[in-house]
Amino acid sequence: SHVLVCGGTGCTSSGSEQLVSVLEQEIAKQGLSEEVKVVKTGCFGLCALGPIMIVYPEGSFYSMVKPEDIPEIVSEHLLKGRIVKRLLYSETVADDSVKSLNETDFYKKQQRVALRNCGVINPENIDEYIGFDGYQALGKVLTEMTPDQVIQTIKDSGLRGRGGGGFPTGLKWSFAAANDADQKYVCCNADEGDPGAFMDRSILEGDPHVLIEAMTIAGYAIGASQGYVYIRAEYPIAVKRLQIAIDQAREYGLLGKNIFDSGFDFDMELRLGAGAFVCGEETALMTSIEGHRGEPRPRPPFPAVKGLFGKPTVLNNVETYANVPRIILNGAEWFASMGTEKSKGTKVFALGGKIHNTGLVEVPMGTTLREIIEEIGGGIPNDKKFKAAQTGGPSGGCIPANLIDTEIDYDNLIAIGSMMGSGGLIVMDEDTCMVDIAKFFLEFTVDESCGKCTPCRVGTKRMYEMLDKITKGNATMEDLDKLEELCYFVKANSLCGLGQTAPNPVLSTLKYFRHEYEAHIKDKT
Ligand code: SF4
Repeated sequence: SHVLVCGGTGCTSSGSEQLVSVLEQEIAKQGLSEEVKVVKTGCFGLCALGPIMIVYPEGSFYSMVKPEDIPEIVSEHLLKGRIVKRLLYSETVADDSVKSLNETDFYKKQQRVALRNCGVINPENIDEYIGFDGYQALGKVLTEMTPDQVIQTIKDSGLRGRGGGGFPTGLKWSFAAANDADQKYVCCNADEGDPGAFMDRSILEGDPHVLIEAMTIAGYAIGASQGYVYIRAEYPIAVKRLQIAIDQAREYGLLGKNIFDSGFDFDMELRLGAGAFVCGEETALMTSIEGHRGEPRPRPPFPAVKGLFGKPTVLNNVETYANVPRIILNGAEWFASMGTEKSKGTKVFALGGKIHNTGLVEVPMGTTLREIIEEIGGGIPNDKKFKAAQTGGPSGGCIPANLIDTEIDYDNLIAIGSMMGSGGLIVMDEDTCMVDIAKFFLEFTVDESCGKCTPCRVGTKRMYEMLDKITKGNATMEDLDKLEELCYFVKANSLCGLGQTAPNPVLSTLKYFRHEYEAHIKDKT
């Protein structure tokens, strides 16, 4: 048998490391070391139930396993073949055996493309990635396709940037490819800074080779020989696994000189960020890689023309890259068959807040918020009512309960005053004060504003003070109008995306929950 234990950050913090060592000791004690293989994988998605363990061949899904449960699992299940039902995830319990995970509410509507190897392979073993078709797309690209054909395939697939903006990826690559230069760069934004977002971290922890493969493909497509991954130092497991993966890829000749005897050279390095939210903005990120203080610079020039070290650069986020090898192998049409008219493929969301199944989910674009919250997420705990969901973190907005049937894609979210962002989805119940939520996000942006331009540096601070005044009952209706006016000013006049989107949580709560602001004011007057 195989025992898969989740080694993602969620399960690691609920004790999976200790579980693995107790499990290995117990397996050795029972003389099963030859027959049973323990594999530490990336995230399965159901983080709320950690630590998680799956025993194959049956696929028994054990949740919230404690070290003291291990002797029973080993002696009953691994030695005698009797599943320990009391430890099974309740939705997988069947009369005779166990139900497949794909039949559970959490998984049945999911479609895993970017997350396909997470929770399946050992991320520290390149052979397992290769065993699941890894590096085949790179081989195909380097031996059968021209750079133009690669770019055309990505364009035809309809893939758009998963970091928030939703810019068409193939188009971005074509801009960088069209600029001649002695040196070009491929960068990856792994700086995921939104509160509540952990999509990219989980991909890096669970399937780091997919990023290496995709960035090498991008390098070939635009004519770059060097890649950089800008990753936050607060992601130690992801950093460690990505470095192991880079070393292994070099050892196998999949990074470096003359890859697949094609004459194409590509190598990559990590650059650790210190956790400044603004360094997720593309120009600030590149400035930080160059060794300077991470401050945005005006655009144009855009990175495809003058990016890292002044050279043409392609910058995408982790989830965007994670789709690339599958598109090359399965074809653009396959990818374009999923999703909505203008948003193709799937999207990974990090579910958090007042929801049963906190965790990571991947669904086709166009899935409704109701399906994600009520079916996949298992609804709101304690019989409370759903009040709103916040997407896009501090740059996004709140979606109220009456819009729960909105089909989620880039354009629909913008139309209702929110945005996809990178995929954080925070659920709120009837007890949540929406003014507090706006204040929470604004406090975050005030902290994270780099201070380079006045509208953001001073404007967000004044907005925060007004919100504070409102929550303390010291504001008037006039202040509410002033707050709204300031929001539009900061949006229109800030230099970078951080300031331009900082007012969104305030504006969307004002739009849908103005009565709550007014109630704060009236309560005290
Ligand atoms: Fe810095 Fe804010 Fe201006 Fe962006 S908008 S450059 S974060 S001060």
